[in-house]
Amino acid sequence: QDRAPAFTRSPWHAQALDLLNWGGEMQGMTHRRLLPTFCLGLLSATLLAACGGSPVTSVDAAGTDAPMGADTKPNVVIMFADDLGYGDLGSFGHPYIRTPNIDTLAAEGQRWTDFYVAAPVCSPSRAALLTGRLPVRSGLYGNAIRVFFPDEPGGFPDSEVTLAEALKDHGYATGMFGKWHLGDAPHALPTRHGFDEWVGVPYSNDMNWVGEPDFEALVKLNMSGDLEQRAAIYARRAAKYAAPEKEHFEAPLFFSKATSDGFEDSVEQPTDQTQLTQRATAAATDFIARHADEPFFLYLPYSMPHTPLFRSEEFAGRSLGGRYGDVVEEIDASVGAVRQALSQAGVLDKTLIVFTSDNGPWLFMREEGGVSGLLRDGKGTTFEGGVRVPTVFNWPGTIAPDVVSDMGSAMDLFSTVMTLVGGDAASATDGLDLSPRLFGTAPSPRNEMPYYRGGALYAYRKGPWKMHFITEGAYGLAPAKQKHEVPQLFHLQRDPAERFDVAADHPEVVADIQAAVAQHRAGLTIAPPLFDARLAALMAPQ
Ligand code: MG
Repeated sequence: QDRAPAFTRSPWHAQALDLLNWGGEMQGMTHRRLLPTFCLGLLSATLLAACGGSPVTSVDAAGTDAPMGADTKPNVVIMFADDLGYGDLGSFGHPYIRTPNIDTLAAEGQRWTDFYVAAPVCSPSRAALLTGRLPVRSGLYGNAIRVFFPDEPGGFPDSEVTLAEALKDHGYATGMFGKWHLGDAPHALPTRHGFDEWVGVPYSNDMNWVGEPDFEALVKLNMSGDLEQRAAIYARRAAKYAAPEKEHFEAPLFFSKATSDGFEDSVEQPTDQTQLTQRATAAATDFIARHADEPFFLYLPYSMPHTPLFRSEEFAGRSLGGRYGDVVEEIDASVGAVRQALSQAGVLDKTLIVFTSDNGPWLFMREEGGVSGLLRDGKGTTFEGGVRVPTVFNWPGTIAPDVVSDMGSAMDLFSTVMTLVGGDAASATDGLDLSPRLFGTAPSPRNEMPYYRGGALYAYRKGPWKMHFITEGAYGLAPAKQKHEVPQLFHLQRDPAERFDVAADHPEVVADIQAAVAQHRAGLTIAPPLFDARLAALMAPQ
């Protein structure tokens, strides 16, 4: 059923993959039992996964209604949290984590309830946001390796067009402050793909363990089959995730700038992770002040609340929601500071602000991870909790306050922004222009959403109906992978938690979605998985 090209498997590769697939060993264990054996799942988790208001319009010379942004050039601010769950914000129902700044953006703007990322883990989700393309189309995904790891020889390819590149063509200043996760080789860095400047971590904040084997060493260990040593490594890691100390990690902080004759790069390593959110905020507000007089694109992909959780002294112990709550509340304060900077620069009314998350909560982290609220499951899965993310659009005077339950996707941001700019979104193959719904003139054009895990289509949504062809829990967690000969069908509006399979009652809906899937597949050429190339090279006979 999957048209993804089969990854060429040497005997070594097959053996290593068997070793990497620990999920089976975890099935049937109780949650309590998971902590001592956290180590097993972390192998998978870390090695495989990682790591209707009235329309506000202006009238142009021809007398037709046009969104205010169409003839100006609005600033674009995209704030992108890491592993923030659907239920982790006050405005999305969390009773204890206080997020007044994001909630204000939501109340004065639009809170989108059905907004999706294109993948349930970091790297492919980020690629899709920046390109408007499904990861399976761009190749920015993996079947064995879910995200990019340190010292990745490949990374983001030159053939892909980022939103930053597209906006540069329209005279935008482009700044990125936060996590990239699309390759750490020089050719792959954000400044090589449209950003004038970047300060941030190149990959997840848990990818440089002090005194622990790196990615390649772990792959070799897995190939060796030394289960005892491997279990010991993951037990140590589990303890460090649960009680993170700065000294356990040596994450690098990159400073990179495009100059008239090349690039200036420097690295601070180890960086103090308790300062990551505040430094990204300071760099972002400084960027806004420097570019108040020209159109700018500010991309602020927070490194948090991805584990290990770190926050500055000011936020430590502040939230009722524990360390995770502290971290989210510090991000909320950052959102407030960015808004304040936009206001001080006098550009608030010409700035589109988007706040969202790259994937669902990392449930394996227990109290160190977030929650998906009423949605089922979390990060890594194609249940709603893995890919539906808390999303807010705000543009004072242009976007009327509303709660929107039309569908949207992070893949649509490219097309939407290019419409506002009057530009070309042809490269954003899988994106749609959400501006009609943002401006209240028409429903969202997105009525369908494919759910991919790696290169495989696990589920498909059309209207309120979602059909699962394959279901599977997160790496190392139940439920076990199951292919459904008779697909499961859920009505997400009546049953947002995906509890009641009603396929037998609605054969006509099943047939309709199967036809939509056939059409989706016919319009898609699946590229080979770029993330897996490194594993293939490591496993090639020497
Ligand atoms: Mg993430």
